[in-house]
Order: sequence, then C-alpha cells, then structure tokens
Amino acid sequence: MGTNTENCPLCGEPAASERVSDTGNAKFRCDTCGNFEITLQAQDMIRQAARETPDLFPCLSAATRLATERGERIVIKSGNLRELAQQHAGLSPTAKLRLLLEYLHGKSGFFGAPVPFNPNKDWPLIRAAKRDECNAIVHHAFSSDLAKRVGDDMKYTLTWNGWQNVDPIGGGTPGLAFVAMAFSPDLAKAFEDGIQPGVADCGFQSIRVDKEAFSEKICDRIIADIRRAQFVIADFTHQRNGVYFEAGYALALGRPVIWTCREDDVDNLHFDTRQYPHILWTEPADLRTQLRNRIRALIPGARLA
Ligand SMILES: [Zn+2]
Repeated sequence: MGTNTENCPLCGEPAASERVSDTGNAKFRCDTCGNFEITLQAQDMIRQAARETPDLFPCLSAATRLATERGERIVIKSGNLRELAQQHAGLSPTAKLRLLLEYLHGKSGFFGAPVPFNPNKDWPLIRAAKRDECNAIVHHAFSSDLAKRVGDDMKYTLTWNGWQNVDPIGGGTPGLAFVAMAFSPDLAKAFEDGIQPGVADCGFQSIRVDKEAFSEKICDRIIADIRRAQFVIADFTHQRNGVYFEAGYALALGRPVIWTCREDDVDNLHFDTRQYPHILWTEPADLRTQLRNRIRALIPGARLA
C-alpha cells in the first residue's frame, strides 16, 4: 500500500494518506491534525457534517493532534466521532489562552527558551477554532505582555509576566480546579460523570491527586496543587479529614471553595463547616448540573453556555 497525498478530511489541507488494506480504513499524517485513522463510514459522516455542523471539525482536529502529541493514534469511527468532538468543544477564549501559555511553558527548557509554534498549523494544540482564532489569541498574548516572538521565524517565548501567569507565586492558575474528595469506589462515578464534566462544561480543567499517592509524602503535592488552582471543589461525602484540611488550606490562601456532599451523608457534616452552602447531590448527573451552575455563579472566566 503506497502513500498518497490527499486533502485531510478534518482540516482540508494536503496530507499524506494510506489505505489500511484489511479494513478499508485510511491513515492520515497531517501537519495540523497529526496522525489518525478513520473508517469509510466516518468519512461519509464527515462529508455530511461539513454542511450541517462545520463547528465539529476544529474539535476533531484538536482530538487527533493532542493524541498525536501524547504518542497515541485515534481511530475515528461513526460511533465515536461526535463524542471525540464534544470532548474538545466550547472552551472559553481565556482557557485557550491558558493552553497556549501552558504549551510554551511546557516546551521551555528554561526561561526565555524559543519554542516553535505556528498558528497556521498548531491551532489544534490550543483547541482554537481554526487559525484565525489562534492568531487572535497569539496577538492578545503579545499585546498583554504574556508572550513574545523570538527571531524571525515562528518561535515564541513567555515573557516574565506570562511565566508568572502559568507558574504563579501568589494567585492560582485561571481555569484550574483542584478536587478534594474521598477515594472510595462508590464515588468514582461522582468524579467521572459529575465533577469532571461539570468543570469541563465551564471551559475549565480539574485536577485530583491520584489515589495511589495517598501517603504522607503526597502532602507536598496536595499543597502545591491547591496553590496552583484557581478554586477548589471539596466533596465531603464519607467525611474524610483530608478533605476538611484541603478546603481549609484553600480558604486560607483566598481560593474560592465549592462545597458538595451526597445527600445521604449531609447529617454527618462537621458542625463548624455546616454553615457553608453545600451542593447536595443524589447522583452524578445532578451533581454535574448543580456544580456547573455554582461555578458559573462564583468563578470568573467560566464559560456560560
Ligand atoms: Zn488535517
């Protein structure tokens, strides 16, 4: 099977393509969308969607390119196409700016290091809606003294101001939520189907310390992650001491705390903190909705729809 050049089904730019003989799938290698595989059925769906839902495409490019950066290759099928796109849809411009700064920060070996970034090809890395939005965000980063161009070609570096924005000394990183909760199996869905998507609905990102890392040593990690976060979500179901500690530490740092608890455990809430307005939830879906509404009401920069 030889390699051809044809237009990438996601971004429309010329890309290297190859048929996979036994399945009829096509593999693409695109400078913009990275490496991905796509079924014939999904290609048909995409042609259809080009007329009906053009907003789908930048989100798919983000899914495939970010996977490529992680060393994975996504297979786009008729069954996962919409879900893949939805995972990358609707981020606020503030969150996209943060992704740009985090990308430059992550690729900088040292402060001032030039990092290659081409808005015309690398726009999926910051989940921009095509190159126009990416260019607009890059220009905003320049005019706000967050990033600057180095040399003549497409290389950028963070300014001191931009570096502080990603790696703050004082305030938290915009759009980052630290999640404090018990690591018990009956709460796994509450995180996966409630908290995580509820935060994502607002264009934000949630971080949680891994359950394996539940030792004395992890305390430094927790402290650092809370310091890094813009706000904290604390779920008190099962009344873990650690959650009370983390919420208290966040309050002391001046970070907003969103209090949640499963309804059947509310009577066990500690007397001293019961006064705070807790989101009382019964299942993950309703936790997601209530959390989304509370974040939108309290946290600056949240995406509103
Ligand atoms: Zn492409």
